[in-house]
Amino acid sequence: MNDGLAKRLFELGAKVRNPSLFQLYDELKDTEWLNRQQLQDLQTEKARKFLCFAGESSPFYRKLFGEVGFKPNEYSGVSDLFCIPELDKLSLIENNASIHSDNIFEKVRLAETSGTSGQSLSFNRSERWDSLNRAAMMRSYDWYGVKPWDRNGYLWGYNISRKQNRKVKLLDMLQNRFRLFGYSSDEIDAFARKLCGASFLNGYSSMVYEVARLINEKGIDVPALKLVKGTSEMIMDIHHVESIKAFGCRVTSEYGAAEAGLIAFECPYGGLHINVENVIVEQNSEGEILITNLESQSFPIIRYNLGDIVSLSEKFCSCGRAHPLVSEIQGRKGNNVHGLNKKYPALTFYYVFKNIALEHEILVNYKVVQKEIGKVIISIEGELSSITIDRVQEQLDQYFGLDVECDLVFVKKFEITQKKSQYFESNL
Ligand SMILES: [Zn+2]
Repeated sequence: MNDGLAKRLFELGAKVRNPSLFQLYDELKDTEWLNRQQLQDLQTEKARKFLCFAGESSPFYRKLFGEVGFKPNEYSGVSDLFCIPELDKLSLIENNASIHSDNIFEKVRLAETSGTSGQSLSFNRSERWDSLNRAAMMRSYDWYGVKPWDRNGYLWGYNISRKQNRKVKLLDMLQNRFRLFGYSSDEIDAFARKLCGASFLNGYSSMVYEVARLINEKGIDVPALKLVKGTSEMIMDIHHVESIKAFGCRVTSEYGAAEAGLIAFECPYGGLHINVENVIVEQNSEGEILITNLESQSFPIIRYNLGDIVSLSEKFCSCGRAHPLVSEIQGRKGNNVHGLNKKYPALTFYYVFKNIALEHEILVNYKVVQKEIGKVIISIEGELSSITIDRVQEQLDQYFGLDVECDLVFVKKFEITQKKSQYFESNL
């Protein structure tokens, strides 16, 4: 497909599905280079309008704002939100009907999220909400010289039923994308051949890693891509190594969720910029991220706790954009590791492996499973290495001492998963 045709098809799809996409994109381009104060002012203005709307239109928030004495028309900054209790996914599920706004007249589509915790949430997403998300993504792609209608490879959801298949094919065609449908040698070959004519690749980071590694193992030469985007999960150091070797670039981090919208996107200078025109990011005392999505009129998302631990930064990025930065996404707080005497956050393993990467340049792919109290099994992918064992054990001793017995097992190759990976699994 030539570029002109691809662009026309994309525009055609947008006209039907996201009529306000290009207008919203233009607005985001207009605010891309504002300074931090101007961005702040813009956000406050948008937030006031949005919160007023939520207070009038959503029975749930109308009641809640009344109870806590929050006056949306007096909103003047993030600290005004502190009186509103945070919500988690379960609250969105349990109060689903009353959270939905009762005076939405624009087109809405049902959005569904499953999530790794097993609770599924569905809600009506208005056209502007969906379009704004896409517009924000389009602006971020610009940073890499990529347009959404450029030829691209897509790495998730290939276990598609026959019924969905035709719709998927149509959507793929409109977006000039191709998928990987399996991990056999032939399928990898075919996917790699298609990538030779593509400008970007996107998917879960762990899947990008698997495909990169298979391409590297086979010695297939893929010309450098402009962008490799890893979505919605922790990107491990080892993912970058294989991606650079296979595709000529690191895995760029896109951080968001269906109900929260696009929260942040990494620029080529490494700054993970918060999409402040559209979301308010806060952090609670546990370090968990709270999101208020300013375009979520149909199903207002206010102080929503995604369950991810993040670090925020006050610094400015050298790219010149003043959008504030997320300095690190440490992933889900998740389950606890149960020691004989104490509990530890599952994130402890993230630090163990981060430390050995930083201190000893040992990069490994790992998974941890706990089946009994005081004991975990850590599987490390690759050949058995006594150096790795020593370094990992050193770190584990520092964090757990004798409280958690850690069995290190080397697995030549992990089974490839077709979904978002979990690095710690508890079967207690
Ligand atoms: Zn930047």
